[in-house]
Amino acid sequence: MLEYLQDREKQIVTKGKDAHDVEGGKPSLSGSVSQRACVFCGSRVVLYPIADAVHLVHGPIGCASYTWDIRGALSSGPELHRSSFSTDLREKHVVFGGETQLYQSLVELIDKYQPKAAFVYSTCIVGVIGDDVQSVCKQVAKEKNIPVIPVMSEGFQGSKKDGYKIACDALATLIGTDESLDVSPMSINILGDFNLAGELWILEAYYKKMGIQILAPITGDGRVKNIQNAHRAALNVVQCSGSMMHLAMYMKETYGIPFIKVSYFGIEDMSDALYEVAKFFKDEAVMDKARELVKDQLKNLLPALEPYKTALTGKKAAIYVGGAFKAISLVKALRLIGMKTVIVGTQTGNTDDYRLLKTICDDGCILVDDSNPIELSEFVKQTGADLFIGGVKERPIAYKLGIGFCDHNHERKMALAGYEGMLNFAKEVYETVSSPVWQFVHRTSSEKN
Ligand code: SF4
Repeated sequence: MLEYLQDREKQIVTKGKDAHDVEGGKPSLSGSVSQRACVFCGSRVVLYPIADAVHLVHGPIGCASYTWDIRGALSSGPELHRSSFSTDLREKHVVFGGETQLYQSLVELIDKYQPKAAFVYSTCIVGVIGDDVQSVCKQVAKEKNIPVIPVMSEGFQGSKKDGYKIACDALATLIGTDESLDVSPMSINILGDFNLAGELWILEAYYKKMGIQILAPITGDGRVKNIQNAHRAALNVVQCSGSMMHLAMYMKETYGIPFIKVSYFGIEDMSDALYEVAKFFKDEAVMDKARELVKDQLKNLLPALEPYKTALTGKKAAIYVGGAFKAISLVKALRLIGMKTVIVGTQTGNTDDYRLLKTICDDGCILVDDSNPIELSEFVKQTGADLFIGGVKERPIAYKLGIGFCDHNHERKMALAGYEGMLNFAKEVYETVSSPVWQFVHRTSSEKN
């Protein structure tokens, strides 16, 4: 059986067998049921953790199903982001236009909830009927005296990755519009952590111990005022580079703020994230605090990981996630608990990301860009993977094939970042891989290795 569509050949590589690089960043192929989501989804997942803003989806009610429940970003204060608002466009709006509906909805929401800002997401049908979303936002912003930001994210424009860029453009309109917060000379912005399970609070505690102020978390546990002041931080620390590189580069060009790329998953990358920030500030006292923190954390963590490593050594894992940086950290974290990565793919990786991934994977590992359920199922059967790490769309693939699953995406309820997160990760992987339930499932395999 042909395991993938012929035109996707260059997006799939088996290390040690194929000489070519994985071609990343290509549009999805017609006929391949891509795991990627639409432009609107990409914008919304980046922006909606801003907890004191109204997020209004201008479109039919179905688009608004990308709600808090699907990606549960946590807030330490207001929780307006947990409500999903829609203009609920119907046939008559498609015929006569939806601008009045949008204006009325915005005014009603702002009067009722007194948000610090409003984001208006334009969906496919709005792009088709041609509502002037920007003018309505401008008018309401003037009348209500808060930022009302149009997010021109019509779903058909491209993929989730294009939505990330549009979200960054929307954030750029907020940044630099306030200077009222106290800012330490040792301040950073965290770009690309969405605080799905409290990860941001773990990072905050680490950086606080080092004497570093997080000025604006963008966007997990985000607040409009902090984002407005973000141009005053000394450094941008970018985690989800797939979604936030555009903003990091914009802030470098516009405000001269340098950035570093980090990952908070796994011991090695988490420690590097602390050391790199300390190095940037060129302050020995900060570096000493970072070293002390890492030492303290590892003293307890390494022995606690040992039993999991013993149980998991030799097990095989498949990874399919949104961005490449996360995939790279996961390969390293799995190795730390004795597991081998046999499949690794992403929705938004580029060719350079895959080159880097290839260097850290073992021979026989399948690297794949923009995959689909048929390919992923076939690769799992071929390689005999025991675990699938992915998101909401990969969970059924794993369960249907009778293997363990670890959610590393929107639906996660337990933090996997930082040192605490590494222990949670090992525990979760162990529990799912060793679950007695798999003995009752017929596991199909076409292992060729
Ligand atoms: S593709 Fe268009 S219609 Fe579908 S969810 Fe995205 S914006 Fe809405």
